[in-house]
Amino acid sequence: MLNNEPVTLSRAALEEEVALSRVRRQALFEAIDDGFCIIEFIDGPHGPLSDYVHVEANSGYERHTGIRGVVGKRLREIEPDHADTWLQVYGEVLRTGQTVRFEQEFVAAGRYIEVSATRVGPEEMRQVSVLFRDVTVRKKTEIALRENVQRVQLAMGAGAIIGTWIWDVKADQFSVDEGFASAFGFDPEKGRSGLSLEDVIETVHPDDRAGLAAAIKDALGRGGAYAHQYRTRRRDGLYYWLEANGRVELAADGSPSQFPGVLIDVEGRRAVEAERDRAIAELRALNETLEQRVDERTAALLNAEEALRQSQKMEAVGQLTGGLAHDFNNILAGIGGSLELMKIRLAQGRIGDIDRHVNGAQAAVKRAAALTQRLLAFSRRQTLDPRPSNLNQIVSGMHDLIGRSVGPAISVETVAAGGLWSAFVDVGQLENSLLNLCINARDAMPDGGKLTIETANRWMDDRAAMQRGLQAGQYLSLCVSDTGTGMSPDVVARAFDPFFTTKPTGQGTGLGLSMVYGFAGQSGGTARIYSELGRGTMVCIYLPRYVGEEGTEEPVLREDPSPTASGLKTILVVDDEPLVRMVAVEVLQDLGYHVLEAEDGASAVKVMGAHPEIDLLITDVGLPNGMNGRQLADAVRVQRPELPVLFITGYAENAVLNHGHLERGMQVLTKPFAAEALGRRVGELVGGER
Ligand code: ADP
Ligand code: MG
Repeated sequence: MLNNEPVTLSRAALEEEVALSRVRRQALFEAIDDGFCIIEFIDGPHGPLSDYVHVEANSGYERHTGIRGVVGKRLREIEPDHADTWLQVYGEVLRTGQTVRFEQEFVAAGRYIEVSATRVGPEEMRQVSVLFRDVTVRKKTEIALRENVQRVQLAMGAGAIIGTWIWDVKADQFSVDEGFASAFGFDPEKGRSGLSLEDVIETVHPDDRAGLAAAIKDALGRGGAYAHQYRTRRRDGLYYWLEANGRVELAADGSPSQFPGVLIDVEGRRAVEAERDRAIAELRALNETLEQRVDERTAALLNAEEALRQSQKMEAVGQLTGGLAHDFNNILAGIGGSLELMKIRLAQGRIGDIDRHVNGAQAAVKRAAALTQRLLAFSRRQTLDPRPSNLNQIVSGMHDLIGRSVGPAISVETVAAGGLWSAFVDVGQLENSLLNLCINARDAMPDGGKLTIETANRWMDDRAAMQRGLQAGQYLSLCVSDTGTGMSPDVVARAFDPFFTTKPTGQGTGLGLSMVYGFAGQSGGTARIYSELGRGTMVCIYLPRYVGEEGTEEPVLREDPSPTASGLKTILVVDDEPLVRMVAVEVLQDLGYHVLEAEDGASAVKVMGAHPEIDLLITDVGLPNGMNGRQLADAVRVQRPELPVLFITGYAENAVLNHGHLERGMQVLTKPFAAEALGRRVGELVGGER
């Protein structure tokens, strides 16, 4: 051929040039890692083109195939068994001129080789070049992965694995197995040879694409394990959750080379999880609404109860105030009438008749005082005047009155404990309470029965005391029991409430037991109801034992000494109410005392300073101008610690008076008071020097 070309170089130069280019080509062949050979088809004993001979090869060929010294050797020499297969494959390349690429395992060399064959020149040249690329690493990874997949599949139960993929990052080839291809409706053949990444991403749910891209980018960047969940559209056109699990292999330079992985169907798992989450959320919501509903119902109930209580209270208050107004009007009419008559008799000069009217007016005032006392008691604002007292004595003193109150159909029995301890109580209030209990008992026994009044000493241990809401210790009990109707637990629960009554309008005020309870509590004790429906009731008042000096216990219901005072005694009366002050001053002057006056605390302190001879301070508790009676007493007692003090109070300023527990030498007198009561108290406080 060379001969036909125009000679431009000398033959020697030409040969030199050819030799040089061969050397260069050889050097190039040797430099590349891939194996390389050129085969030339020859006619053999089996017919035309029935064999080929290796005309050139580089050292990479030997490395990859394990076949030595292949140049000059025929195919049928080295591979007699597989010759037909190879001839067919390469013969096809020669005939069509199309490049063929496939993988081949060379067992002898322990390698997987990707083979690509390309025709050299026209068909008549009969030559094909073959390139051998080592893909052993990739192949082994694939095999290991397949094994892993099988293992995972076994572990997870069949069906969880959708398919596998291999992404040759370097070659930018994304191939998938049949499972993968069929799940997404790809042509399996195409899947094997390589899908475009766009095809694959197209199946991903639009909302999940950005997340997936980020996860892949992250995995490629750092190498190693990769796992990501996202939704993909399957063949049926619906989206399902899957999890991609893979591994990015990095090349020596740190760039990603291979990225194989497996797709796992997590739709079922996610459905179960979602179901569970939904159930939990529902339960939680249910719980919340339940709580809310309970709260609402409770609030509504409380409101209803409160409203009911309020309306009952209002009804009772209306009833009570109506009754009170009526009573007070009667009393006022009595007082007013008496005064009217006294005036007339005085004008007539019929002085002898005055006494009767004065007595009438005084009786009316006493009734009014009793009425206000009741009001104060239920509001638990009464001022108690406790003294060391003997309960047995009080009970026996009340016996006749009780008998008359309950009537002949009821027999009254008193069981007085021997050696009964002393109590420290307001006697008048205790009498009131006892009478209240007896009247309740009477009301519970309309057809007659038996009423028992019993006193006892009680030594309460922690448990017994706790049951009654008290401190452990020594107590006295005063119990009134009847054989009457008894009370339902419901009634027992509310009986102490002010205004609670089961009696018809006009008969019950609902204040009796509330007074008893308030009084007992104020006295350091308590009251309790024990009742059985249809059998009877016992109500007990518990009072703390009084352990005081023997001498302080004095009979309360003693005979009054006629109040005659000593002119030697000086008394300071402090009250801002001129009328009350005037009455007190006149009563005391009548009794022969020397009396000084003041209208508030400040002026009282001045008078005290100017008159060290003062023997007794009588003061209203509620005083104007910033100093109350109690503060006045305290101020005065700094100079005169032993000075007796008598407080006068219209209603119970219990807090001011230390809840009825006063220091020695201090007493309380409740307004309105009779002149005689004032005289008696003053006599007690300033002593018997008359
Ligand atoms: P009142 O006697 O005005 O109704 P109380 O406070 O004294 O008010 O009593 C409240 C309620 O307790 C009475 O209406 C009655 O239902 C019940 N109760 C009180 N004592 C007895 C008793 N000894 N037996 C049965 N029920 C009683
Ligand atoms: Mg009553």
